[in-house]
Amino acid sequence: MEGEKRGPLAEGERVLLFGGTFDPPHNGHIHFLKSAIEAAKPARVVVMPACIPPHKAASATPAALRLAMCECFKPLFPALEVSDWEIRQGGKSYTIDTVNMLEQTYPGAAVYLCVGSDMLTTFTEWRSWRELLRRTVLVAQSREEGDMPELRAAARALEAEGGRVLFTQTPALPLASTELRTHRRDLSLVPAAARRVIEENHLYER
Ligand code: ATP
Repeated sequence: MEGEKRGPLAEGERVLLFGGTFDPPHNGHIHFLKSAIEAAKPARVVVMPACIPPHKAASATPAALRLAMCECFKPLFPALEVSDWEIRQGGKSYTIDTVNMLEQTYPGAAVYLCVGSDMLTTFTEWRSWRELLRRTVLVAQSREEGDMPELRAAARALEAEGGRVLFTQTPALPLASTELRTHRRDLSLVPAAARRVIEENHLYER
């Protein structure tokens, strides 16, 4: 991991993992990550595009281009790394494997995991979710107006299993990559650095 070049973290310092398909990254992701950074106060941020997300069909967009689009997150935080680790592993990307890698890279650090509302409410479907609850803190963000009661209930259920859930303090910015892939005209909702990759490579044209 490139992160090693930045030097080790002190015991208990926080590394915030933001994983996703990022096909493409959009303003909802930017909004979430900014809010998560404010809530979690990490020493490092790792943005990790998945190779194949276990819960979705494989992305038609080449992984190298999804990785390139994730450069748009870099201005959000000085110690932010966009990692190709999951892409290099190949196959389905399981967060538990990535957390193992981060714990080895940053011994003694506390791993915080960004989860949008759809991820929070389906968390018990993740591989090794109990292990993840034990070893990470979830940083949760609403995605839809009015979804907070459902999210609070999901958080309470995870807390009853020993999990820790930290909510961001910002309202939802409803937006999904799926909408942008199908309505290419909405590219104004994609950060400029990612939009350039889309335009240069004619992504999402039909
Ligand atoms: P798709 O439409 O292809 O399913 P997506 O927009 O949900 O994609 P992902 O790359 O799968 O994007 O999301 C990565 C992470 O960001 C997930 O934790 C997801 O819940 C979260 N996320 C995505 N969009 C938003 C949003 N608008 N607000 C808050 N969190 C979001």
